[in-house]
Amino acid sequence: MIDRDAHQHRPLCVLGSTGSIGVSTLDVARHLSIPVHTLTAHTRLEALAEQARVHGVQRVVCARGEDVGRLRGLLADQPHIEVCGGAAALCEAAGDEHCPTVVTAIVGGAGLEPTLAAVRSGKRVAIANKEPLVMAGELITAEAMHYGATLLPVDSEHSAIFQCLEHHRQSDISQLLLTASGGPFRTIHNLSQVTVEQALNHPNWSMGAKITIDSATLMNKALEVIEAHHLFAIDVSRIEVVVHPQSIIHSLVAFADGSLMAQLGAPDMRTPIQYALTWPYHRSGPVACPDLLAIARLDFETPDHKRFPALELGRHCAQLGGIAPVIFNAANEVAVERFLAQDIRFVDITHGIAEAVDALSSAKYGHSLEDILAADAEARSWLTGWQPR
Ligand code: NAD
Ligand code: MG
Repeated sequence: MIDRDAHQHRPLCVLGSTGSIGVSTLDVARHLSIPVHTLTAHTRLEALAEQARVHGVQRVVCARGEDVGRLRGLLADQPHIEVCGGAAALCEAAGDEHCPTVVTAIVGGAGLEPTLAAVRSGKRVAIANKEPLVMAGELITAEAMHYGATLLPVDSEHSAIFQCLEHHRQSDISQLLLTASGGPFRTIHNLSQVTVEQALNHPNWSMGAKITIDSATLMNKALEVIEAHHLFAIDVSRIEVVVHPQSIIHSLVAFADGSLMAQLGAPDMRTPIQYALTWPYHRSGPVACPDLLAIARLDFETPDHKRFPALELGRHCAQLGGIAPVIFNAANEVAVERFLAQDIRFVDITHGIAEAVDALSSAKYGHSLEDILAADAEARSWLTGWQPR
C-alpha cells in the first residue's frame, strides 16, 4: 500500500538548523509531524538548545568541539540528549542511520564534508547548501549514484525544475530557465556606492546574510547555474537565466516540442523544503497557493551583465571546469565577508573573484576531495590578502 505520510516515519537530521533554511525546515517538520532526530549549528548555541527542547531531539552537534561544554550546560535539563561537537561529529551525525533524511542547511563550503557524509550513507539528502555542489558536483553526484543516495533539491529554482522534469525524458529537454528576482539593485544604475544595509534588503526573500549578498551581486544565480548543471546533468550552455521580479515562477523547463513548463508558488522556502521532505507527494502544509488575481502580472527581463558580471563569470568558470568553480566559490565567500565587514565595496566583490579566478584557476589540482579542499583554502587566503585597485 502507498503511504503518502511516509515522511512521518523518516526522522530528520538538520545540518545548520539555526539558520534561515534550518528554521523553516523545523517549521515544516512541526506542521507535518515529521520527527527530528539531530540538529547542528555553528554559533547561536542558545537557539540550538531551544530548538532541541521544542522538537524533542536525540542529538545536537555544535560545529566547534570547544563549544561542547557550553552546549551541554545549556541542555543540563535534558540529560537524554546526546551533545557532541567538532568536524568529525558533524559528519558522523550526517551519516547516522537513525536519520533517513538529512537537510543540508549549512552556509558555504563548510557544508561540503557533512554533505558527502550524508550522501555516502545512501539516504535522502535534501540539498539547500548549494556551495558544495558548486565545488564538488561531480564527486557528490557520483557518490550519490554509488551509495544509492537520493538528492532532493531545496533551492526553489531547482525544486521547480525537478518538479517540471518528473516523468519526462532527459533527451526531450531543450533548456532550463532559472528565474532570478534581480535582487535589491535591479533598478539601481550606479552600484559603486551602495551600502551593506541596502544590499541586505532583499525585495522578496528573507534569507541568511551570505545568500542575500549573493542575490544582490547575482552571484547566487551563477552558483545556481552550476548547481543545476550538476543536479540535472545538463550543460551550462543550455541553462538560461531570466529576471522575474515577482519571484512567483520559480523556474521553467523548455522542451523540444516548444512547450514550456513552470512551477509557481509563493516566495516562501517552506514550499520547496516541504516537497523535498514529502517527495514524491504534495501534502498539505503551512504555505498557501499564491493568489494570481492579487499578483495580477508576471514580468520578465534579461539580466544586465554589465552591472552584474558575476553571472557570466560563473558560466565561464563552469566551462573552464576543474578547479575554477572551487576558486570562484571560495573567493566569493571571503569577498562577501569582507564586504559585510565594510572592508571592500560592493562592486569589488566580483572584481576580486574575477582576479582570483585569473590568478589561480590554472593551478595544478586534481578532482579528489583533498585537492578541492586545498584549492578552496588557497583561494580563501588569496582573497583575504587581495586589495582592490
Ligand atoms: P544562514 O546563515 O541563515 O544559516 C546557516 C546555518 O549554518 C546556521 O545554522 C549556522 O550555525 C550554520 N553554519 C554556519 N557556518 C558553519 C560552519 N562553518 N560549520 C557548520 N555550520 C555552520 O544561511 P541560510 O540562508 O539558511 O542558507 C543556508 C544554505 O541554503 C546556503 O547554502 C544557501 O545558499 C542555501 N539557500 C538558502 C535559501 C534561503 O532562503 N535562506 C534559499 C535557497 C538556498
Ligand atoms: Mg534559489
